[in-house]
Amino acid sequence: MKIDFNRPAFLGKETDYIKQAVMNRKLCGDGEFTKKCSAWMKEKLGTKYSLLTTSCTHALEMGAYLSDIKPGEEVIMPSYTFVSTADAFVLRGARVAFVDIRPDTMNIDENLIEAAINEKTRAIAPVHYAGVACEMDTIMEIAQKYRLKVVEDAAQGVNAYYKGRALGTIGDFGCFSFHETKNYIMGEGGALLFQKDEYLERAEVLREKGTDRSKFFRGQVDKYTWVDFGSSYLPSELNAAYLYAQLEGCEEIDARRMAVWNYYNKELRPLADKGLLELPFIPDYAKHNAHMFYIKTKDMEERTELISFLKERDICSAFHYVPLHSAAAGRKFGYFVGEDRYTTKESERLTRLPMYYDLTVEDAAEVVEAIFDFYIIR
Ligand SMILES: *Cc1c(COP(=O)(O)O)cnc(C)c1O
Repeated sequence: MKIDFNRPAFLGKETDYIKQAVMNRKLCGDGEFTKKCSAWMKEKLGTKYSLLTTSCTHALEMGAYLSDIKPGEEVIMPSYTFVSTADAFVLRGARVAFVDIRPDTMNIDENLIEAAINEKTRAIAPVHYAGVACEMDTIMEIAQKYRLKVVEDAAQGVNAYYKGRALGTIGDFGCFSFHETKNYIMGEGGALLFQKDEYLERAEVLREKGTDRSKFFRGQVDKYTWVDFGSSYLPSELNAAYLYAQLEGCEEIDARRMAVWNYYNKELRPLADKGLLELPFIPDYAKHNAHMFYIKTKDMEERTELISFLKERDICSAFHYVPLHSAAAGRKFGYFVGEDRYTTKESERLTRLPMYYDLTVEDAAEVVEAIFDFYIIR
């Protein structure tokens, strides 16, 4: 492929930092680089607590566990999301209530949430699709009214904002992904964010095999023991070293992604004005992070043709998220609340364009040209 769909970002310092981690003779979790990554999240994003994890999936699992979800209880989320949002709660025995999305942002429709609440509902898991914020004030008000936990799936929303507040810092728990397809990466990895002191002890114990090892290292106990249920959610220092170089260079990554995003948005506008396709919508309350640029075609048939047309030009585009409620596991573990007005219809029209750190505006110009040719030939 001449223009890939994604390429893992590499700024240059990553290998130096990995070498440094090797020389530190500390390869397991919670060393110097893990601490630096956590400090970056605290300073840059204003979170009180941030624990680096082995993936966003694992951060979501921690969020579901720390929300005390019990078998048979329910969690509300969009059906248009990655499987991990649902898996994390299903692992706790929860049932998933899928709510329709807004067609403009592809995020959960905040006005449909209240109707999906019943006596078993315990949590809401909003997903900030494409790094564009959900309408969080409304979601937090509903959560407070019904005493529900909010677990933000901010996998795509690192360093994106809702009314000036970083995504992932608004709900009870925020979950980040540093998978190589995201903006800042470490191969596989993520983070769990939270603001309340009351979550800290259980979160640390859960992350460290059910032991109070964190307290031991802080000198708060003189030996560490098995105190509760736990797993192992600490990433290696090698991965954290890669990530730290990315976080340090976040402005360079942001600038390049934003340049491509703005270019697509400006150059494809004439096709949108003619009603041939639709472009992403950014509400006033959201500051996005150029995680993704997508277009929406007339329907699925046109999307299939466009993807193969681009492929002939050596341009790789991709669609994603077959709505979870229509999948075998979705039918087994959940149900759709109300009418599916937009989830299926809009998901069938969406195509993501190439977007990554290395992608130049010249590459993006080729993509734009190909899309123009596609619509003119039609
Ligand atoms: C990428 C992604 C995840 C999973 O992240 P991992 O770090 O790969 O576990 C979860 N939710 C959403 C919305 C994602 O985009």
